[in-house]
Formats: sequence, C-alpha cells, structure tokens
Amino acid sequence: MTSKQQPDFDAIVVGAGFAGLGLIHYLREAGRSVKVFDKASDVGGTWTWNRYPGAATDSEGYYYCLTFSKELLQEWSWSQRYPGWEETHRYMRFLADKCDMWPHIQLDTEISSAIYQKDEGHWLIITADGDEHTCKYFISAMGMISQPYVPSIEGIDDFKGPIFHSSRWPEGLDYAGKRVGIIGAGATTVQMLPVMAETAANVTMFQRTPNFIMPAVQKPMTPEWEKEIKENYDEIIAKCRNHSFGMAFDSPVGRLAAETPAKEREAIFEELWQVGGFRFCFETFDDLLANPAANQMAADFITSKIREKVKDPETAELLTPRGYPLFAKRPPLDHGFYEAFNRDNVRLVDIKDREPIVEITETGVRTSENHYEFDIVVLATGFQAYTGAQEALEIRGLGGTTLEDKWESASTSIMGVCVADFPNLFMITGPQAPFANLPTSIEQNIMWITDCIKMMESKGYDVCAPLQEAEDAWSAHTAEIHDQTLMAQGDKVHSWMMGANIESKTPRVLVYFGGANVYYDKLRESVDNHFPELEFERLAS
Ligand code: NAP
Repeated sequence: MTSKQQPDFDAIVVGAGFAGLGLIHYLREAGRSVKVFDKASDVGGTWTWNRYPGAATDSEGYYYCLTFSKELLQEWSWSQRYPGWEETHRYMRFLADKCDMWPHIQLDTEISSAIYQKDEGHWLIITADGDEHTCKYFISAMGMISQPYVPSIEGIDDFKGPIFHSSRWPEGLDYAGKRVGIIGAGATTVQMLPVMAETAANVTMFQRTPNFIMPAVQKPMTPEWEKEIKENYDEIIAKCRNHSFGMAFDSPVGRLAAETPAKEREAIFEELWQVGGFRFCFETFDDLLANPAANQMAADFITSKIREKVKDPETAELLTPRGYPLFAKRPPLDHGFYEAFNRDNVRLVDIKDREPIVEITETGVRTSENHYEFDIVVLATGFQAYTGAQEALEIRGLGGTTLEDKWESASTSIMGVCVADFPNLFMITGPQAPFANLPTSIEQNIMWITDCIKMMESKGYDVCAPLQEAEDAWSAHTAEIHDQTLMAQGDKVHSWMMGANIESKTPRVLVYFGGANVYYDKLRESVDNHFPELEFERLAS
C-alpha cells in the first residue's frame, strides 16, 4: 500500500498584495504552510505596480487596510485622508515586517501555469523559469483590477519616445518640461493629469467617454482625527462589514432623493459634496443607485459643478457625461482634475465625436483632424478587470480545461471564490464577487477560504469540488440583481464592470450588486452550513 504524496505546501498563493499578505496571516494561524509568489520585485500588488504621479487610494486610508491585528491598526499612522501609493506601499511592507511574512514570500517569480493533478488532489504550479512546486490548495490573489488593457491602436509600436501603460510607470521617468499625451480619461487619468500638468510642458488628454467625477477633498490626518479613529476602530470595522460597498459610512441614511423637496435635496447634495469622496453616493440619499429619477438628480448636480469649475464652456461641455446614468461607470475622485483644464498647458481632445485617433506615429498621435507631437505617451486605457489576471495564466482544472476557456462567453463562479471543475482552487474577489472597498472584501474572502481549509483538514478531506448547480444558482442570482440596476447600462459606455471595455469580449455580468454586506452574510451562512456549495472527498491512500 502506497501512502499519499505530500505536496510541497498546503497552499500556494499567486499575488503579494493585500490578499496574499492576508492569506499568509490567516493560513499560518490555521497551522497551514503557505507560499506566496509574485512577479513583482516587492510586496504591494496594485500599490507596487501603480506608481503613476498622483496615484492614491479613493477609499479613506484608515479603512483601506487589513484588520486582523488590532495592535497594528493602533500602531500605524496615516498621514492624510487618501494616502498616496508610496504611503500605502509602505503600509504593506510594514505589515509584512511586523508579521514576519517575508519567509513565506518569493518575489520576482512569475507563475506561468497551474495544473490540477486529479489523482493526488494537488496542484502543480510551474514558474516562468520552469521551476515546479506542488500544493493542495491553489489560491489566486492576483487582484481584481490588475491585468493592464491596451487597445489595438495602429502604429502603437512606432512611437520613438517612452510609451507605456499607466500601471507600468518607468522608474525615474522625468516628465518635467516634456510634452505628454494621455490616452484615456478614467480614474487613473483623473488622478494623474493635474499632477503632471504642474511640471510638464503640456499635457493632452484624449477622451472618449467623459465621467461623473466627485471631489475627493484631500486633507491631512490631524492628531485629533487619528485619536478619534483609533478609539473607534471596532465600530469602523463593523461599519465596513455592514456597508453595501464595504466602506465605513453611515448608510442607509433613511431618505430618498425622489421624495425630498428640491431645495432641501440640493442642500443635502451640496453638504456631502463639500465633505467629499464616495460619501456623496452613500450618505446623501438611498435611491441614487436604483431609481433612475433620483440618479438623474445626482447626475444633474454633478454636471452643474463641472460648469462651475471649468472656465471654458466648450471644454466644460466636452467633459460633461451624457446619455448614461451615474454609476454605469465607476466614478473617479477629483484632486484638481477639472481645475487643470483652466491651465494654458492642458488640452482636451474629443476622440469620440470630433477627431477619433487614427494612429500613433513615431512622434505623436494622429487623429482624423490633427497630428499631436509628444515626448511621452501614457496609455491610461484601463484593465481586464475581474478575470484578466487569471486568464493570463494557464490554469487547468478537471479535463484540462483552462479558466480562460471556461469563461469565454460568461465569467461564472460561486460567490467569486471558487469555480466548478476547478477543485481545491480558490479565488480572492473573482468574477461575480461585489465591487467594494477591496481590503474589506479581500479579508471576508480570506476568512471563508481559511474556514473551508480548516474544516477540510479537520475532517481529513483531500478534495473540495465546487458544485455546478451552486455555480449556476449564484450566476443566475447575480445576473438577476445586475439586470435590475442602473449598472446594467455599463455596456453602453465600455464599463470594465461588465468587461465591456475589452474589444474582443462580449459584455457580461461580472459584479454582484446585491450589496457587499449581503454577500458577506452569504459567505458566513456558507461556513455555518458547512459549505453546501462544495462536495468533499477523501482519496484512497
Ligand atoms: P478605466 O476607468 O477603464 O479608463 C480607461 C480609459 O481608457 C477610458 O477613458 C477609456 O475610454 C479609455 N480607452 C480604453 N480603450 C480605448 C480606446 N480603444 N480608444 C480610446 N480610449 C480608450 O481605467 P482606469 O482609469 O485605469 O481605472 C480603472 C479602475 O481602476 C477604476 O475604475 C478604479 O476602480 C481603479 N482605480 C482606482 C484608483 C483608486 O482607487 N485610487 C485609481 C485608479 C484606478 P472609455 O471610457 O470610452 O472606454
């Protein structure tokens, strides 16, 4: 009689961002061996890749963090409301240092394939250098918005100067005094453009779809504010856990825009506009996401502000979103974006209706009407959200099927954490998980995965097989909710929340919009009911 093969690790994780670091903590506490690989040269995930000027969190820093250690929440101090990428990155290194995580992390290592080994119930993980490792549980922690998307533009390889995706910022790039072209007008550009405009010779933004943009209202962390936060961390964590987008907001607020007299409604919009951030979405009225009339009221308020901020009426008009509801695209936060268009060295080119891009040349960008000369071109063209990172790897489950094949026409899952025909595979915030304050969702996913692994180990199970019926049920439920929301109009405006930004893909349901809090409850119910979405098996030794 042969004994079962022991894998190299209980769990192999790809990705050393919030998810990878959190998994090290929780799985180690559960007594499991864990190895995290990342192709980057540092921990940090999003915050190691996105180093463009102005990159900062859009959630307030004090709840954009992992909460497993009360001591570390007290020890770490944020310097401002929305920390920049450097500070967020430092925080993640602080976590790794304080929790002695480094021995579990192997950087500069790209994983190229993960192949399920049915006979052993193990995964074979192969690096780009050909090294092989085995594990019982393979966990994808590669980030929801991490795989860059670069559209096919004629001549893109011809440009002689630096040309790169915004999340691959060249180290030490000096743009002072340079002519910069930015293709794209999403959240990345909204943060990047005003900072670059301060020192670049000029900045030209090529915009296809204008966004609804709300003021961030950055502010320094004062000793009084920090004290208040640190005295109330339990409450802050509970607020995130119970909020529909995982944020520490007071919501629902118990009032509806559609039922509030116009003068009072405008005063409430104005009050929260001045407070800044996503509070405008959640602490004004409870019907902005669901009721088209209420949504239009908020949209009208936002667009009236563009005309107040941008002096040139023609530019203001071009920056004004039309023809789609607020939230059909993820709204960015403004740190001086609109005001930047009042500078002489900032220019907007409308590539939707007026002058579409024809090609990139050796020296710039040619539209149907003009040729714009640049020293640097930034492709702030977004990401293959939710599935891109996993599809970029060869992940083969039962019968040799890849995740990419499986998700060709519909990116289905069970609660965004596992997929039928991929036994012993877990995902952090995979497709059909909510879009929310990511550290909150990440930690909730990690707890579910850890509880599942603990249960399997305690009962001596070798394999957990996600059930097709459970996947069908979750996908149908997610689609039903999605279709009732205004976000379902995202396919009109290339929203990454439906994968509609990827030319080669058909738009699909990628986000669970039933409320992150409801979703976290469902994860908990699953644990309490012993994971009814999974079938467990012991293999013969
Ligand atoms: P994005 O919102 O998807 O924006 C991409 C931009 O590129 C859009 O303006 C898009 O135009 C344009 N584009 C794409 N393909 C194009 C083409 N073929 N021709 C011309 N223009 C094209 O990407 P992002 O700005 O990187 O942001 C993505 C997400 O990352 C955000 O929504 C957010 O969730 C996250 N993010 C977060 C933060 C933060 O929290 N601090 C910061 C940055 C990003 P269309 O709109 O017409 O498609």
